[in-house]
Amino acid sequence: MTLSVVFLGPPGAGKGTQAAALADRFGFIPVNSGALLREEVETGTRMGQVAAAYMERGDLVPDEIVTAVVLRRVAGHSGHRMVLDGFPKTTAQAVAMRDALTAARSPARLAVEFAIDRDVLRQRLLRRARQQHRTDDRPATIGRRLAAFATTPAPLLDFYRDEGILATVDASPTPVEVASALTALVAAAIDRT
Ligand code: AMP
Repeated sequence: MTLSVVFLGPPGAGKGTQAAALADRFGFIPVNSGALLREEVETGTRMGQVAAAYMERGDLVPDEIVTAVVLRRVAGHSGHRMVLDGFPKTTAQAVAMRDALTAARSPARLAVEFAIDRDVLRQRLLRRARQQHRTDDRPATIGRRLAAFATTPAPLLDFYRDEGILATVDASPTPVEVASALTALVAAAIDRT
């Protein structure tokens, strides 16, 4: 039996950077819901066509679409350590994910909440918008995305607290400092598994 790690937190909190760090350090396979949805949009699949309108507005894509896309990828990595980045964002997604990870023999043993100040986030997202030209990192969309996901919904935190696997890291310091806090949490979770 192996284990997966779930990242919770807003866009700009550094989840992608830290998912890459866990890949290097411990061999976790990053599964990023935003990236998977963008692939669907670029390929022009039916699900991608529906998702695109929500993503352009900075709104959440409906649960059944994002869940189908992410769970297909999770099933493909069955038996491997995975780090879930950007998924789940709702309790319905969390329940679907729990069952899928268990079926993939890689249950979630750690859920990490990236805690970060809203103003720091806005600055980071604006910088990323200038660097990467992502359509959903435009200033107008950033406001909507922050409103939609700046704080992790309490029921989602409760879900992982009830599972006994919730931990929080302060996502404000440098990536190296965040990685060191995270590494300690992940190493402990691996030891328990
Ligand atoms: P991200 O790359 O995580 O910032 O996600 C980009 C966009 O994809 C978001 O603004 C949402 O529209 C959509 N998205 C990503 N993950 C989810 C999710 N778990 N549930 C619903 N929509 C999502």
